[in-house]
Amino acid sequence: MALTVVGSIAFDAVRTPFGERERMLGGSASHFALAASFFTDVRVVGPVGEDFGPEEIGVLEAHGVSTADIERVEGGSTFFWRGHYDHDMNVAHTDDTRLNVFADFVPKLCDDNRDAEMLFLGNIQPELQRQVRAEARGARFVALDSMNLWIETAKDALLAVISEIDCVLLNDAELRMLTAEPNLVVAARAIMALGPSIVVAKRGEYGAALFTGDDTFAMPALPIAEVRDPTGAGDSFAGGFLGFLDGAGAHSPSNDELRQAMVRGSAMASFNVEDFGTDRVRRLDRDEIDARVAAFKDLTHF
Ligand code: AMP
Repeated sequence: MALTVVGSIAFDAVRTPFGERERMLGGSASHFALAASFFTDVRVVGPVGEDFGPEEIGVLEAHGVSTADIERVEGGSTFFWRGHYDHDMNVAHTDDTRLNVFADFVPKLCDDNRDAEMLFLGNIQPELQRQVRAEARGARFVALDSMNLWIETAKDALLAVISEIDCVLLNDAELRMLTAEPNLVVAARAIMALGPSIVVAKRGEYGAALFTGDDTFAMPALPIAEVRDPTGAGDSFAGGFLGFLDGAGAHSPSNDELRQAMVRGSAMASFNVEDFGTDRVRRLDRDEIDARVAAFKDLTHF
């Protein structure tokens, strides 16, 4: 089993009511890969700049993530995102986005990464997601995430790539924005009408909902007293969700497998928010994940 991911590999500057960091490892692909690495064999595709050092690569490699397709661009700078959160930590405010090396990136996957059974098109330019989708000839199950910036600036390309994949994971505001449907159920159906058979609505501190042709499932987020930085929660959710499916060999997942995956996604997101950037997920172990899955069972049992 193997799971290839393309998405941003970034330096993030983040301010929340609980502190501030000027430069930390971030990006959709980094958060995703670390979370998924607890469940399956993960391979990251994307460019970094000269400023991306052995320390950052080491974080991924220490988790067994393949970095063979991380291309280091001489003279280039790594993708940079600056954002902040006010007291409503469900809403990220973007202060600066610099695509840097992503602006001219042309993806070329090595054979191992093309052959991976599962592919995640993490948040990045939709045109790039589409190129990677076309390169990944072995992918039997493909999922995608995106964000308001791309819905506003590259909607046609985003809709085109959505029509070529199996599963869409977006937060509820993005689903409404993309479909112009205020109701989440109707919005999910509108996405399914484009092609995907599975839609996951991420709802921040309110949990996540799953829509398939014949099943609807919703779960709460774990009530956590210590939420320090929500950056990357959505990608950690996706990493737990898809990592679990790939690790279980579920490339045509049943409704039951999808529900199990929702719990793993929720567990990984709940860890991610407990500390800045990747700090919490990078020091996690399997026992903690299993205990949190059990905590979700307790939370929802009646
Ligand atoms: P999320 O899981 O939605 O909180 O994603 C947070 C990550 O998305 C951060 O680590 C940022 O580096 C990354 N990010 C922010 N804006 C963009 C963008 N326009 N394209 C790709 N990645 C982004």
